[in-house]
Amino acid sequence: MVVFYNPQGAPELACNECGCRWYDRMTNTCYDCGTEVSDAEVAAFEKALEQHYEKTGNRP
Ligand SMILES: [Zn+2]
Repeated sequence: MVVFYNPQGAPELACNECGCRWYDRMTNTCYDCGTEVSDAEVAAFEKALEQHYEKTGNRP
């Protein structure tokens, strides 16, 4: 999984293998191809998300 930024500047996770942009938080795998997402990758994504919220003040 890679973290990328959408046009609104918010981080999203994209799969390395199939390029889809969502994964299953219950099992930490890609919805589409089943590639596992490591804890480190999830942590990096959540950190990027926190930074985005702090920057924009736009916490959902
Ligand atoms: Zn995938």
